Amino acid sequence: MKNRLGHYPTPLVALRRLSEILGGPEIWMKRDDLTGLAFGGNKTRKLEYFIEEALTANADVVITAGAQQSNHCRQTAAACAAVGLECHLVLGGTEPPAANGNFLLDRLLHARIHLMGAERKGESLGRIHEDLRRQGRRPYLIPYGGSNAIGARGFVDAVGELHSQLSENAIRFDRIVFASSSGGTQAGLLVGARIHDLGAQALGITIDKEEAGALPFDQHICNIANELKAFCPYEGEIAPTDVCLCNDYTGAGYGIVGALEREAISLVAAAEGILLDPVYTGRTAGALIDMVRRGRIGKEETVLFWHTGGTPALFSYAAELGNLK
Ligand SMILES: *Cc1c(COP(=O)(O)O)cnc(C)c1O
Repeated sequence: MKNRLGHYPTPLVALRRLSEILGGPEIWMKRDDLTGLAFGGNKTRKLEYFIEEALTANADVVITAGAQQSNHCRQTAAACAAVGLECHLVLGGTEPPAANGNFLLDRLLHARIHLMGAERKGESLGRIHEDLRRQGRRPYLIPYGGSNAIGARGFVDAVGELHSQLSENAIRFDRIVFASSSGGTQAGLLVGARIHDLGAQALGITIDKEEAGALPFDQHICNIANELKAFCPYEGEIAPTDVCLCNDYTGAGYGIVGALEREAISLVAAAEGILLDPVYTGRTAGALIDMVRRGRIGKEETVLFWHTGGTPALFSYAAELGNLK
């Protein structure tokens, strides 16, 4: 059984005031910040599939990893609580003076937290998974960011959901702009757009700087998209050149808020009464606004901004955002 964790369809809304302030294009927003699972976000869609698989496998504990303010980990903790599974989170950083944002929510949701210092991408996930197994547990491992073909299926579904909303609103999009970090969202959108013949470019705004020695990000996304074929058959092949990424807005690196994010969060809050998050959607909206100003996105276009959530992290960025005007 699917769709036990979130509330769908998430709203599709026109951002008329923001479009007007920017002097075009026509901007719409897909409100996946409203999936509803402990403040929502894009990971809820992936978790529908992971939790189903964990329950089918008769797991008694779920383990995953992320940064200390990981939205993926917070939604995983909530999903586990909702179905009665124990949740282990392998998080970056050290014990903060006071729990805040997503980290506070992880605690409230009774997650067992392993703090790993400089590791923020689950480098020790395999080892802790093995420890649990040796203790006689039945652990189910969700990869960093929930980004494999199992989780990405949630975003193939999301495109089907969007497709219905497009017919209802008699609208079509030239582009879909969204934050891309561990790649599952983009792989799912890419495959979904092909299956539903959406005709819109899925443009991922890269949030993390490319790591030396890591698989190139477009290749990683392409691999997930190819693995998806087993679950969601589509015509033809997907190559790295089909993956549209913009790498120009990674700023000072992951999780570091600069002028770009501050201005975007402020503008969207004032124009629409909608909150973005400091790490993903703030950066992505900043990129979108900048691309419009530079003419890289045409004023005559119709653009969908996919709000992927993350708003609980705002509270842990009070120092950077508090004097926002
Ligand atoms: C995880 C996350 C993303 C990126 O999704 P990926 O599937 O990891 O690329 C974007 N926005 C928010 C708020 C997230 O938590």
